Amino acid sequence: MKLIGKVALVTGASRGIGKAIAEALGKQGAKVVINYTQNVDAAEKVSETIRASGGEAIALKADISDAAAVEGMFATIEEKYGGTDILVNNAGIWRGGKITEVGPSDWNAVLDTNIKGMFLCTQSALKAMLQRGAGKIINISSVIGLIGFPGDTIYGTSKAGIIGFTKSLAKELARHRINVNAVAPGIIATDMNSALDEKIRTRLENSIPLGYLGNPEHIAEVVCFLACGADYVTGQVWTVDGGFTMVS
Ligand code: NAP
Repeated sequence: MKLIGKVALVTGASRGIGKAIAEALGKQGAKVVINYTQNVDAAEKVSETIRASGGEAIALKADISDAAAVEGMFATIEEKYGGTDILVNNAGIWRGGKITEVGPSDWNAVLDTNIKGMFLCTQSALKAMLQRGAGKIINISSVIGLIGFPGDTIYGTSKAGIIGFTKSLAKELARHRINVNAVAPGIIATDMNSALDEKIRTRLENSIPLGYLGNPEHIAEVVCFLACGADYVTGQVWTVDGGFTMVS
């Protein structure tokens, strides 16, 4: 129970990786804010699961690409808990296709959520962190931002952007004792990959040295490590991919 008295906001925590992160931080005693944009029932269920095991949690709806909605969410957090100690910028969307097939609406949707959303939440969370001279910011990138993938130019741009944001912000905030790190998941079994057909899934599994897709808890474990301590770690990218990007 390393996070008793701390407040953690996890964006996109109604499902998948965010849900696992929220539950892991809840187990460490944090008061957890479960952000979501559409799936109220799923978000409330995550919140109930944390409360059922003795923790504290609330679900808050906000489209993180909408500045007014983000402002409203942070006002509620301020009022209820007095600010955020840990911010996990997890919410993200994927749109893929060959460069000749994707359009500006795909570009805007992905960049607005994956980059602008992270920027808006970070700015708002920093108000309390800077006052306290403490905080942990953990941004969920992807191996696609590190090594690329055909058909992933837009998504890859957003995930590489998260790494650039993380490194500059870590340098800017180090003197305030605020740690900023990124986690780059490999291929994780969530809704985001549910459309993969069996043949592609098998091909992907065969390209992962550990031989299987990751699960959300694998990512939550590393996020939890960064949130619970790791005070001398900042500006780093933690790749959690079963060896997918390992150079052989
Ligand atoms: P997921 O299962 O599709 O869940 C996405 C979550 O983000 C949901 O909670 C969704 O809320 C929320 N969300 C989407 N747009 C939002 C917005 N505008 N405002 C607020 N919340 C929003 O995704 P996932 O696979 O868990 O991925 C989580 C993160 O890990 C993403 O950043 C993704 O890029 C990254 N990642 C995933 C993989 C993978 O293989 N799965 C690999 C590398 C990196 P609703 O339920 O309300 O829609």
